Amino acid sequence: MENVFDVIIIGSGPAGLTAALYTTRANLKTLVIAGRAWGGQLILTTLVENYPGFPEGIQGPDLMTAFRKQAEHHGAEIVDVDFKTADYGSTPVKIRTDDDKEYSARTVIIATGADTKWLGVPGEKERIGRGVSSCAPCDAPFFRNKNAIVVGGGDSAMEEALVLTKFASSVTIVHRRGEFRASQIMQKRVKENPKIKLIFNSEIVEILGENKVEKVKIKNNLTNEISEMPIEGVFVAIGHIPNSALFQGIDRDEKGFIKVYNHTKTNIDGVYVAGDVHDAEYKQAVTAAGFGCMAVLEVEK
Ligand code: NAP
Repeated sequence: MENVFDVIIIGSGPAGLTAALYTTRANLKTLVIAGRAWGGQLILTTLVENYPGFPEGIQGPDLMTAFRKQAEHHGAEIVDVDFKTADYGSTPVKIRTDDDKEYSARTVIIATGADTKWLGVPGEKERIGRGVSSCAPCDAPFFRNKNAIVVGGGDSAMEEALVLTKFASSVTIVHRRGEFRASQIMQKRVKENPKIKLIFNSEIVEILGENKVEKVKIKNNLTNEISEMPIEGVFVAIGHIPNSALFQGIDRDEKGFIKVYNHTKTNIDGVYVAGDVHDAEYKQAVTAAGFGCMAVLEVEK
């Protein structure tokens, strides 16, 4: 039965491909449904300086190509198509892909990741990686002695701002309402940091500059007044959108993150989850890879 696998992994970012490395080395027949845009968020990134093992950093696409080759080297079968549906009621689980093929899986690992929620304002998309970022732990060192804005009012925005202060000359948090939703302790740390300024009731409506970020237009939501502010970096920290919509029947929280009940198990027996599709907290390539490893150790049990 050629299309029956011990494990089918859905997703091909650091979580999915690390899981594939561990399943294949555990002699489990493995299929990775990689998606038509494979490689997760790192495939869209330039220099990655915080993945251990690369003293000079590594380009995101090179890192993901190495992940993929390593999984394939150990025997993972990888198809570059999108997951469509799963019938969790049948044993083994039946999975359909968007090329109308059907596969069967004794166990499933969902590792479809999450996408950054961007502002969607003019000038943002084309400057991602040129002053616009969503990851201070990744990109803060590029803003040494520069001025940066962080957008958002949650814990992520507080954390991004605090990380940035280690490098930037000044950090301004711009938040659309008059109060943060972040935890009190994070707010306290931010308010006590002399490098951080706060702008409330305001939104960025446009990002400007020749190639890179040079200034932003900020709208005051109370007066509708628009002003310009020179700035070199814009860190967007307004949340993530987990890629979980296609997993009907799998429990998700109110933001769509897949719920984990026991280590990496979902509410359905034999269906596990790894990486940013369940992790709203850490969201790092190295933690996603760690979750991929953990899921397989649970599968093996
Ligand atoms: P979050 O709590 O959902 O906060 C998102 C923030 O972005 C909110 O302040 C929201 O404004 C703002 N926002 C959303 N859409 C926007 C838009 N289009 N334009 C402008 N602002 C917008 O997300 P998060 O901060 O990523 O945190 C996610 C979860 O991870 C939370 O449970 C958090 O506690 C946790 N986390 C914890 C830590 C930590 O403890 N160290 C660190 C990071 C994350 P409104 O407030 O007006 O809705």
